[in-house]
Amino acid sequence: MTVSEQKLQEALAQLKNSGVRITPQRHAVLEYLMQTMNHPTADDIYKALEGKFPNMSVATVYNNLRVFQEIGLVRELTYGDSSSRFDCNTSKHYHIICDDCGKIVDFHYPSLDEVEQLAEQVTGFDVSHHRMEVYGKCEDCQSKLQTSH
Ligand SMILES: [Zn+2]
Ligand SMILES: [Zn+2]
Repeated sequence: MTVSEQKLQEALAQLKNSGVRITPQRHAVLEYLMQTMNHPTADDIYKALEGKFPNMSVATVYNNLRVFQEIGLVRELTYGDSSSRFDCNTSKHYHIICDDCGKIVDFHYPSLDEVEQLAEQVTGFDVSHHRMEVYGKCEDCQSKLQTSH
């Protein structure tokens, strides 16, 4: 079994334990999320699956994503006005984002917990979490630049 298959089986078990009914569409959305590391939007998921499920709507995809989020299978990443991205890697990690194509890639770095402690001390806030993003140009976009010259 591949890692993504194993993750899928675990996620399905978790859904069952939470009393969530596993419809074919729900299964497909989950499978897609587990297989892609691209942090897709609901629209991306919809486009990838509409061939298989002609009756499915973007709203269905959103509903399924909400269910997965509630039981902690996915994380929603929000970026201002642009569409939310969904991440099935719920372990602690940071993201690097391409300025040109918007691709989001995971990278691991020791959690910056001391930033939270310092912020708490300095401001008196009860800190809940922090987010850090790194921006740049991905390898694909870099090579596109080179070939166009
Ligand atoms: Zn790029
Ligand atoms: Zn991620």
